Amino acid sequence: MSSKDKKLVELSDRVYRGIALSRTYHIWTLGCQMNVADSQRLASELEKMGYRAAQNPDDADVLVVNTCVVRQGAEDKGVGRLVSLRPLKEKYPDKVIGLMGCMVGVRDSLPLRKRFPFVDVFLAPSEPQPMVTFLNERGIEDELRVVEDDERNLRDAIQDEDALILPAHERGSLITAHVPIVYGCSHACSFCIIPFRRGVERSRSVGEIVSEVRSLVRQGVKEITLLGQIVDRYGKDIPDGPDLADLLRIVHDAGVAEGLERIRFLTSHPNYMTDKLLDTVAELPHVMPHIEVPVQAGDDEVLARMKRGYSQQQYRDLIDRIRARIPNVAINTDIIVGFSGETEQQFQQTFDLLGDLKLDKAHLAKYSARPQTVSARTMPDDVPEEEKERRRKTLDDQQAEIIAEINGRSLGQTVPVLVEESRGGKWRGRTPQNKLVFFEDLDQDRRGQVVDVEIVWTGPWSMQGRLPSSAAMPLPLTVDMAGLSHDH
Ligand code: SAM
Repeated sequence: MSSKDKKLVELSDRVYRGIALSRTYHIWTLGCQMNVADSQRLASELEKMGYRAAQNPDDADVLVVNTCVVRQGAEDKGVGRLVSLRPLKEKYPDKVIGLMGCMVGVRDSLPLRKRFPFVDVFLAPSEPQPMVTFLNERGIEDELRVVEDDERNLRDAIQDEDALILPAHERGSLITAHVPIVYGCSHACSFCIIPFRRGVERSRSVGEIVSEVRSLVRQGVKEITLLGQIVDRYGKDIPDGPDLADLLRIVHDAGVAEGLERIRFLTSHPNYMTDKLLDTVAELPHVMPHIEVPVQAGDDEVLARMKRGYSQQQYRDLIDRIRARIPNVAINTDIIVGFSGETEQQFQQTFDLLGDLKLDKAHLAKYSARPQTVSARTMPDDVPEEEKERRRKTLDDQQAEIIAEINGRSLGQTVPVLVEESRGGKWRGRTPQNKLVFFEDLDQDRRGQVVDVEIVWTGPWSMQGRLPSSAAMPLPLTVDMAGLSHDH
């Protein structure tokens, strides 16, 4: 850790000790990386007001559920969590309950207010302000003014107006962070609820993004993932604005100068992956060879009804183009099985596509009809649940074989691993292709370092390695395969 980083950690510890008796918060985050980033922003705002992460969620003064509605199952999980807070609120009425994210959306929250009267604050995606206003109106801020002064000093130390100050428990220890660069989505795939809940596409300014990246790196972050529902549309809503390739170059130069090791971006849409973007990824050494580009289905008629805007052949051509331009690239995709009207033959096209392309990962989802979407309004949800599950499982088994084969090629190779944390007595990190690697090195604190690791065992969901000089063969570790293979 540099002396600047040490100073920051020291200062944040002082702030932390100073408010030992202060109020606390807890945020449950469901769904995608965008929600993770949104929760981090809310936490950052709360910490600016003097709040700290609660050790035990039940003790927190502010409890927030950040929801996902992309599938019915995700929405049910959020509602379950929220409803479980009701008895706590009844017993301790001073606790503040917040509902955040796509369940709230960008429209009128009145129906939700009626449904969940025990909730104090409703926050649209990426909008922490209503909670800040609510807490300020309660007059808590006087009590915490002293803490704010210390926080301001911390901000000065990071030296940036638009800095994102990480929550105290993450400062100096968080290695990978997400930075939203495009909010909302205007694409309107027929199955997708996101445009209704996150509003129209809005790109953030380059200045704001660079400031945030710099401040994160100064707080110890080594890897940044730039986020957007369709990240490769970055800048299209800014007249004469930069595109994603331009932004990558700027973030690369500004971030690397501060000590940033790795840059990733997700999620791409096939129609916006220009050669310029691919060449930029290939050229910039700190931009990782890792592309997330959902195909959703392998049949042209299904793709047309999903309103995706490309054919399966165009997707195949894109994969060829990506592989030709970016050496050693890992390509991940998303698939929806059992979309309205999907026949066995049409499903078979998806199976064949994945079999031919041999991609590095497929995030598999069973179609879930979501309110307001074109497909829910105009197409029957007519593939039975058991059939959806059979199709999902068929692809899951196929992918496990494909990925085991791809990962097997790394056996005996030495790969650079960015170490994120220690788990089960081993260091856990990722390769440039975003593959999980575990290795042992009990003697040193490896967190945040890029370490050359020799791969000695591979499976579909993780790999085991050792330091090239070390002779010991690590034993395979039991990994939560379900959790790792379905991380949407
Ligand atoms: N915007 C990106 C795209 O579609 O190109 C990806 C972001 S989306 C929020 C994440 C994934 O959730 C999608 O790629 C899709 O596979 C899945 N998804 C979205 N709507 C769904 C639905 N109604 N049923 C099942 N899965 C869905």
